[in-house]
Amino acid sequence: MILPALAALALPAPQADDADLRVAQLRDAALEDDYAYAITEAITTELGPRLAGTAEEARARKWAVTTLTRMGFKNVRDEPFPLKTWVRGVERAMVVGENSQPLVLTALGNSGATPAAGLTGEVVFFPTLDDLKDAPDGSLAGKIAFVSHAMTRTQDGSQYGYYGAVRRQGPAIAAAKGAAAILIRSVGTDSHRMPHAGSTVFPEGTAPIPAAALAVPDADQLERLVGRGAPVRVALTLTPRIVGTQNSGNVVAEVPGRDPAAGIVVVACHLDSWDLGTGAIDDASGCGIVAAAAKRIMDAGRPRRTIRVLWAGSEEVGVFGGKAYFDAHKGDNHVLAAESDFGADRIWRLDTNFAPANKPLADRLAAALAPLGISAGRDPAGGGADVSALVSAGVAGVDLQQDGTRYFDLHHTPDDTLDKVDPAQMRQNVAAWTAMLAVVADAPEAISATK
Ligand SMILES: [Zn+2]
Repeated sequence: MILPALAALALPAPQADDADLRVAQLRDAALEDDYAYAITEAITTELGPRLAGTAEEARARKWAVTTLTRMGFKNVRDEPFPLKTWVRGVERAMVVGENSQPLVLTALGNSGATPAAGLTGEVVFFPTLDDLKDAPDGSLAGKIAFVSHAMTRTQDGSQYGYYGAVRRQGPAIAAAKGAAAILIRSVGTDSHRMPHAGSTVFPEGTAPIPAAALAVPDADQLERLVGRGAPVRVALTLTPRIVGTQNSGNVVAEVPGRDPAAGIVVVACHLDSWDLGTGAIDDASGCGIVAAAAKRIMDAGRPRRTIRVLWAGSEEVGVFGGKAYFDAHKGDNHVLAAESDFGADRIWRLDTNFAPANKPLADRLAAALAPLGISAGRDPAGGGADVSALVSAGVAGVDLQQDGTRYFDLHHTPDDTLDKVDPAQMRQNVAAWTAMLAVVADAPEAISATK
């Protein structure tokens, strides 16, 4: 605050053209945003977990259509698509014998089931996924493979790419080698007895085996037991099942632009979540952030380009919403796509994949974001899971990279709940998304991706 007597002495504001000033005003006003948190609070409180293909996800879509319509968006609709739907059952594990004790775990999405009475097998320990890959064919017959590949915390979350492979591929590899079941160390960075759910994939022709993630301390425990040298046997009961083909869907809403020929800017999140927590950081907050930013632009006057908000379905179980959106809309005139799907902690880096001719646009974007503590990065933007098909097809992408330091402490666990969302950091996200939209939706030049 400037004292009145000094205000007269203040230097004039630096020269900025009207467009830059407008972006700055929208950005700074968004630092007071309450929409994003209100949406996140409502999704997590009124809807709770939203597993893809279930009645809970369908209820969330209905709620989303009502909410986005009430917020003033146009062309709000639910675009359904069919989904082979997997649901969790009983999940229980117990070390048997002399060191008898329970283990905390959760079934991976697409896991096969044990018999209702469970199965018992000897644990075969693999420190890494490569060790599992090296196991001779048939060597795991009747055994329970245990892969304890451990990821570490990084700000950009990049360890997930490498260590996530344990979850995505480990079960199919173990199945191919004859294993009766597989346990993996949760793909997570916490030290709590919170198992991390997530999908695995069994290719056509590979029968799913029971596959579960141990909480990190339980993986440590099992490693120590195996390290004692004597055979370790585990009794495992997992009874997930496929409940057939159900409806999932994408919810789409628009801020119609003044100039239809200028194309569409898509901002995405995913409305589905894993079923253990309430999907607060993954990804109710992303839906709150992108809808809040789009609303702030809408309320400030009609943008040049149409802004389309995509609340995708069935991201967690294989990005089926993103694929359905691409199939339905690949003929639309998309000029830019971006997604918020990495929690609600602050944005620290901007990446784009703009063509060299769009360097002035990239510079304006970087200048608009710099006051929020966001630096321009050097990686080409991928856009995010639900818009990656668009970006792969040549649409320009923007990544507003969030601080992922604590993201994988919570990711896909029962602990992914509203109290983990920091309202101040969430507002910084809304300010960044609002500034980004203000720049790109009104940019006078054409926007294209680098070839
Ligand atoms: Zn997500």
